[in-house]
Amino acid sequence: MKIIVCLKQVPDAEDVKTDPETGRIIREGIAGTINPFDMFALEEALRLKETYGGKIVLLSMGPQDAYHTLRYGLAVGADEAYLLSDIKFAGSDTLATAYALSCGIKQLDHYDLIICGIQTTDGDTGQVGANLAEILEIPNVYYVNKIIKYQNKKIEVERLLEDRCQILQVTLPCLISIIKGTNIPRMPTLRGKIEAENKLLKILNASEVKVIEDRCGLEGSPTRVVKVIIPNKRKQGVILKGCLDQNIVKLVQFLKNKKVVSI
Ligand SMILES: Cc1cc2nc3c(=O)[nH]c(=O)nc-3n(C[C@H](O)[C@H](O)[C@H](O)COP(=O)(O)OP(=O)(O)OC[C@H]3O[C@@H](n4cnc5c(N)ncnc54)[C@H](O)[C@@H]3O)c2cc1C
Repeated sequence: MKIIVCLKQVPDAEDVKTDPETGRIIREGIAGTINPFDMFALEEALRLKETYGGKIVLLSMGPQDAYHTLRYGLAVGADEAYLLSDIKFAGSDTLATAYALSCGIKQLDHYDLIICGIQTTDGDTGQVGANLAEILEIPNVYYVNKIIKYQNKKIEVERLLEDRCQILQVTLPCLISIIKGTNIPRMPTLRGKIEAENKLLKILNASEVKVIEDRCGLEGSPTRVVKVIIPNKRKQGVILKGCLDQNIVKLVQFLKNKKVVSI
């Protein structure tokens, strides 16, 4: 089975900052790391490969330094990696990102399964997987919690919803998005790191993946971040301690003072 795992490099920071003027995420001066949600996607792919055999190909669109992020993915067990990197991709919204990824995938010939994370820690839209499946015209299952089995060119997956679980059978090729916490992603071993140095890691530019230029980057992005607003933090609530009767009196007085009630 040939599995493509979409990995995004995100800023390695708890608090992702946005430029208030342009609405763009500030990436300068911040080290990159694999989007933590994509680690679960990669781990699922590694487990599938261990059970059924096959090959794992990593795909990312991002700046040239995302190379290191992909090398990490190779060190934990993926077989080869492709980074789509070109100034023409800059400013891509989710649709333009998915379009560029779809062009990269079309250059990889055959594939059976594409695995994405459920969202990223920077853009955080959770849209790229669905957009990508739509462009490639393949089935898409979001919120996958477990891949149960692979048989006769189909996979059976468990999809976790708020109030129930669905068991779905999907015909390959298809795209699935893995939720967080579904497995424990492995760390690279020293041997894995050494082996990764000899694995194929290729950077492809826009013309190499044959994109239609006005479908990518800022020009190909139908959405614009007009403004970014950080909501005011809610004030801490008041906790009334002690006896219930006294607290009721205090609460009523408090509400009267705030003119919330007139008693
Ligand atoms: C209007 C708009 C303008 C933007 N402009 C810019 C900009 O100028 N510069 C900029 O850096 N960002 C920009 N962004 C953010 C950019 O669109 C996102 O980084 C990108 O589209 C991915 O979206 P996301 O991070 O929300 O991914 P999600 O949809 O939350 O990710 C879901 C999954 O898709 C896969 N995935 C997502 N992105 C990639 C990727 N790049 N490579 C491989 N796999 C991926 C991963 O498996 C991931 O777990 C903009 C976003 C919007 C909405």
